[in-house]
Amino acid sequence: MMDLRFSAEDEAFRHEARDWLTERLTGEFAAVRGRGGPGDEHELFEERAAWERALGEARWIGIGWPEEYGGRGLSLTQQVIFYEEYARAQGPGRVGIIGEGLLGPTIVHFGTDDQKRRFLPGILAGTQIWCQGYSEPNAGSDLANVQTRAERDGDEWVITGQKVWTSLAQWADWCFVLCRTNRDAAKHKGLSYLLVPMRQDGIDIRPIVQLTGTSEFNEVFFDGARTPVDNVVGEVDDGWRVAMGTLAFERGASTLGQQAEFENELHTILELARKSGRAGDPVLRQRLADAWIGLRILRYNALRALQPLERGEITPLTSFAKLAWATYHRGLAELGLDVCGADGAIADAAPYELHPLQRMFLYTRADTIYGGSNEVQRNVIGERALGLPKEPR
Ligand SMILES: Cc1cc2nc3c(=O)[nH]c(=O)nc-3n(C[C@H](O)[C@H](O)[C@H](O)COP(=O)(O)OP(=O)(O)OC[C@H]3O[C@@H](n4cnc5c(N)ncnc54)[C@H](O)[C@@H]3O)c2cc1C
Repeated sequence: MMDLRFSAEDEAFRHEARDWLTERLTGEFAAVRGRGGPGDEHELFEERAAWERALGEARWIGIGWPEEYGGRGLSLTQQVIFYEEYARAQGPGRVGIIGEGLLGPTIVHFGTDDQKRRFLPGILAGTQIWCQGYSEPNAGSDLANVQTRAERDGDEWVITGQKVWTSLAQWADWCFVLCRTNRDAAKHKGLSYLLVPMRQDGIDIRPIVQLTGTSEFNEVFFDGARTPVDNVVGEVDDGWRVAMGTLAFERGASTLGQQAEFENELHTILELARKSGRAGDPVLRQRLADAWIGLRILRYNALRALQPLERGEITPLTSFAKLAWATYHRGLAELGLDVCGADGAIADAAPYELHPLQRMFLYTRADTIYGGSNEVQRNVIGERALGLPKEPR
């Protein structure tokens, strides 16, 4: 039996977070409320950067990091509560999400004392923006195939190659780049994890226009870009282990809390269904009820997955959770578009202004790809949870 209720202490924490977020997002930061999400990520960037700094000042960034590194050392449950309240208050898309969620925990776990001193404070203060340089044209699901190379030249690494799908690169100050540093070693063995400043001559950033008409991600070309030798996280040629550590952090508390955002979207869909009269359609009614039920199931599964994670155990529940939320979210967006009716097929305004539900429909096509595609999650579940034979390579 599992007790899925929150303790009195957790509920008190919920109120503290709710009060702070509500006060700020109805006052000084009202303009960014509900902005900067998928398909809207280019909007109000400066204002959202100011919001990030306000979060930093109030110590709402890195709440799960150990206190000795400037975090609050909060439990995973309280981190999830914070993300739930953030979504409920319609907090804006976070510009510091990659630094806080991916690079920071990686430095805490694998970084040197000097790297901790140099990189953690900027993330916690909300003043340093990071992006993730993993994927390449021929290295996505097969990440170990990375071809971007780094060669040592005196006190510096010189980096040459191409990354793709690099979210936030156009705004980032720094990128963590998975590079090949040893071409003679086996595929997984010759990689290193470098921290590279983005604003330099050897880096060319080209935004990719997405289905939503906006550009969250970019192609990034490295042509003799440089970074000091001590900007390697972990050992040289041991970057694969560090890169996998980062991916484990990617599936942490913020992913569990993001489901609260789905609740907001379901609410928008329900409101439109009632207003347009389409809630009277028996098939749509059934799908709306199913969407509500599906969200409850996701939530209880997320709470169930929390308990082993709190104990530091990685279970196949994490892969199941990714597969379940990505598929649910894509379906919710399809329902949203059906509730729009024929209007869903026409842009809201010229030349390509989209309704939030249209943006959601287009953006959720990505959910089943990034962070490990549905097919790849099914491979993991098949091999690691069900003990099925490994897929042929
Ligand atoms: C919105 C978005 C943001 C992203 N942001 C970043 C970022 O900031 N930084 C970054 O580095 N990357 C980022 N990515 C890239 C993302 O990690 C990759 O898209 C993902 O790993 C899949 O790789 P790929 O696109 O090369 O597809 P591929 O790996 O080429 O896969 C193509 C298809 O083949 C299937 N497939 C591949 N291998 C197998 C297999 N072994 N078994 C069964 N089926 C398989 C896949 O499921 C998929 O359907 C982002 C992607 C998206 C969509």
